[in-house]
Amino acid sequence: MSDEEREKLRAFLTELRDLCGKYGYKIGGCGCCDSPWIVVGGDKPIDVGNLRADGQEASVWVRGEGEVTTNER
Ligand SMILES: [Zn+2]
Repeated sequence: MSDEEREKLRAFLTELRDLCGKYGYKIGGCGCCDSPWIVVGGDKPIDVGNLRADGQEASVWVRGEGEVTTNER
């Protein structure tokens, strides 16, 4: 994943985190199949899985690269 794509993904996650906070919603998956997942990258699709979001943080897991999150660890 390019640095540009990673920054775009992080910007998306930041808005999603804040959207979940606004509505008090949480997004999570079953943990067995990378769900929920999103496809980023436009013409060069990249599947990213394990999307999690609540009003405090949003993150995904990029296969072979690791976590992308709105929060510093
Ligand atoms: Zn599953």
